[in-house]
Amino acid sequence: MAFKYPANFDLEGWQRTVAFHGHTCPGLALGYRASFAALRALQVKRAADEELVAIVENDACGVDAVQVITGCTLGKGNLIYRDYGKQVFTFARRDAESAVRIYVHAGRSNSDPGYLELHQKIENGTATAEEVTQYQQRQQQRIQQLLTVPEEEILSLQTVALDLPEKARIFNSVECSRCQEKVAEIRARIWEGRPVCLACVETYTRGW
Ligand SMILES: [Zn+2]
Ligand SMILES: [Zn+2]
Repeated sequence: MAFKYPANFDLEGWQRTVAFHGHTCPGLALGYRASFAALRALQVKRAADEELVAIVENDACGVDAVQVITGCTLGKGNLIYRDYGKQVFTFARRDAESAVRIYVHAGRSNSDPGYLELHQKIENGTATAEEVTQYQQRQQQRIQQLLTVPEEEILSLQTVALDLPEKARIFNSVECSRCQEKVAEIRARIWEGRPVCLACVETYTRGW
């Protein structure tokens, strides 16, 4: 089934997002919409460096769209992960005082009972071949819907004040006295008076 996108849809951006993530899915579509909403609200383009910061409150599919579209990435240090299990993405410009907090509620598209029922069957492996095909079609329709509905139907935006964490820093390294590998000083622990890495601490303390 071919997607019907509106004329102004950034198909190239979506394709890059899908290529990075590996598959299309509703979560990715929502992250994609949230990312564009943030760039527009903050009047910025994709971050080449650390000028834009994202705080993501989940580690699910949508976060990959955030990385591709906004340029806030784990490796650059301008993607901050908080393990709250919420579909909330907050974006801030380093040169401005305000930030935008986006709550992805996904709207009505989330409450199609037939779709949820099918999803359940797929999850427990009880779906028939026909149901799998049906599910895939409905999922494609849902993704298309999420990509094209007016933003306010799936997201709520709020301007918030935010104290940004300091910029990413490079820390000195020390050698772990157990495995002899280098570890950033700030992450090292002391064990019997000598530095050890967290991986070794966990091994020697049985995980706590
Ligand atoms: Zn996904
Ligand atoms: Zn070690």
